[in-house]
Amino acid sequence: MEPIKIELPTIFEGMTVNAWLFKGSEPTLIDCGEKTDKLWDALIDGLKINGLGIQDLKKVIITHAHLDHIGMAKKITDHSDATIWVSEYVYDWATDLKTMLDRRTAAIMEIMHKNYPNKLIKEYFSFGYEALVPYWDEIPKDRIQVFPMEGQLNFGGDDWDIIYTPGHCINQTCFHNPKNGYFISADMLLRIIPNPIIDAGLQPPYARVKSLVMQLASYEKIAKLNITKTFPGHFDIIDNAPELIEKQVQKIRLRTEKCFTLIQDGIHSAIDLANGIYPNRINNATLFMVIGFLDILQEEGRIDAIEKEGLLHYYDKKRAVSKV
Ligand SMILES: [Zn+2]
Repeated sequence: MEPIKIELPTIFEGMTVNAWLFKGSEPTLIDCGEKTDKLWDALIDGLKINGLGIQDLKKVIITHAHLDHIGMAKKITDHSDATIWVSEYVYDWATDLKTMLDRRTAAIMEIMHKNYPNKLIKEYFSFGYEALVPYWDEIPKDRIQVFPMEGQLNFGGDDWDIIYTPGHCINQTCFHNPKNGYFISADMLLRIIPNPIIDAGLQPPYARVKSLVMQLASYEKIAKLNITKTFPGHFDIIDNAPELIEKQVQKIRLRTEKCFTLIQDGIHSAIDLANGIYPNRINNATLFMVIGFLDILQEEGRIDAIEKEGLLHYYDKKRAVSKV
């Protein structure tokens, strides 16, 4: 069975999010948007066009714990007897939102303050618990079913492989149907490169993870799948997944090299690197992306970071050694 796109509005300007509907004997949604009145109305309309009401939903399967994918889940349980399916890694987000959001925010803020000026951080990263909780409800424990990070999940009349794809989000899963090559890609594969949002690790002390490094590994993982048609978390259906994956990986590699060249040319701070790589395009996504390039270069042992007055400065490892 092929899912039907229900495109829903978000609080992010110009952005929509997709809920993928499987009709049939067990109407199922993959993701459900955030909790706003506008989105609720759009969801009801989208279901209605397909001959369904909220009360008909039996399952809502969540791909990852970002508000535009999970925020509305609780309200759906209020109006139906649907079960909300979340992965092991999403479970704490579904049931203990404040702890998890505080943890993610702390991880983001720590690395941002080591790299960027306060003014920019205030402008682009003020999205802690207080800002998000109006759009995001916890889900009652007795309405949740947990699925593992690998294995299979049955929905829409088929068994789908669960593909763990950290990067954009540490707890993100995609679903792949090995029979027909259909791929529900969440925010792993979109027509644009997904934002490698920093997150806290899964284990204490919950140190921040290297999101873009993980994203590259996830691209490698999904590149091995036989994908015929992709149903992404945002934008339209993708028909050329293999080419798109290759293109996005290449672009990340190219920009990482640009970052390295700038460092070799004597640019040492993340903000100057960001301005060099993305002239006039400084925003939430590009600032995360630059942290990602620096993480890749550090992982590859090509650069070193030295903290000076609370800010990180980056050096070409070979040249830094000869300087000392
Ligand atoms: Zn999203």
